[in-house]
Amino acid sequence: MTDVVLVDRGWFPRDKTCGSGLSPAALQLAEALGVGEKVRARANPVDWVRIVTPGREELLLPANSAAVILLRKDFNQLLVERARELGVRFHAGFRASELLRDGAGRVVGVRGFDGVELRASFVLCADGAHYIFSPDRRPKRFISTLMGWWEGAELPPRRLNMVFDRNLAPLYGWMFPETATRVNIGICVDGQDARGQPAGRNLRALFERFRDDRYREALRGARPLGKLKGHSIVFSTWVSQCTAPGALWVGEAARVTHNATGEGISQAMQSGVFAADAVAAVAGRTDGALSLGALRLATPPALHRRVRGRVPGESNGGLQRS
Ligand SMILES: Cc1cc2nc3c(=O)[nH]c(=O)nc-3n(C[C@H](O)[C@H](O)[C@H](O)COP(=O)(O)OP(=O)(O)OC[C@H]3O[C@@H](n4cnc5c(N)ncnc54)[C@H](O)[C@@H]3O)c2cc1C
Repeated sequence: MTDVVLVDRGWFPRDKTCGSGLSPAALQLAEALGVGEKVRARANPVDWVRIVTPGREELLLPANSAAVILLRKDFNQLLVERARELGVRFHAGFRASELLRDGAGRVVGVRGFDGVELRASFVLCADGAHYIFSPDRRPKRFISTLMGWWEGAELPPRRLNMVFDRNLAPLYGWMFPETATRVNIGICVDGQDARGQPAGRNLRALFERFRDDRYREALRGARPLGKLKGHSIVFSTWVSQCTAPGALWVGEAARVTHNATGEGISQAMQSGVFAADAVAAVAGRTDGALSLGALRLATPPALHRRVRGRVPGESNGGLQRS
């Protein structure tokens, strides 16, 4: 593949509400995509994982830098830069409004809100939790979150906390050390009740209770950075309905996150790699140094990708793999 276009409605580097924890799986993918060294050089390594049970028992597990914290703004920027380095064209500020289809209903590109059309042989949709093009008609299931950032908290360095607090059950609250002096603290709870109805919980009250109960002392002399931020994490226990002729959905747009932890970075990257492999297989052949590598790199932060296959009229069957 030599013609890959990556579009995003945002302008990079840009903030993304996220704990910014890169799991061992995410780090492995970062290595494979060629940004491993830069990620490790900028990230805060996790030396210990402290897990607190609902009964307030504590486990302290060695992590030995197998996971790291790197602000999403910086991580996503590294991926965008790497994609560009490999020849992917990046259109920031392009807000997709509609998928373009041919007479047979096959996806052949995207239209922006400004009316600009991008034609493509294959379109990969990665527009996140608030996806708008997905063919998945099942009711959305999501985790609700709220988080904030503090500078100067009195907490042991490089120690990540996962606190399974009874008020947040069955999910948890966290504290992730982003740098030697900055932490983020957040909560995640089920967004729906057992019948699939909105849980209607007061997130701010839950968050404040969690923060004060667990971190009041540690935050006494700390400075809050900005406001609290929240965002849904869409999940599914059964990934499906993420293909259409000419198009594939990846990452949260395909609901590929972990339903018990909310982890979604490695899943978004891995599904992007699977989708890229599938498109390359369908396109049938690659040419030159950019080929598959470039396509693979056009994964997570971005969104709709245009891949012009070298084999006109190739069938879409191979795309079913993801
Ligand atoms: C509070 C919180 C904490 C989290 N913490 C972690 C964590 O520590 N570790 C972890 O692994 N996961 C975490 N997650 C989950 C993780 O952030 C997501 O699962 C992951 O970012 C999904 O990646 P994605 O590329 O699918 O979507 P996103 O990262 O959401 O990217 C979607 C992109 O699509 C663009 N976009 C949207 N609509 C359009 C459009 N119409 N046209 C053009 N562009 C568009 C957006 O600008 C955005 O850049 C957390 C999530 C939340 C909410």
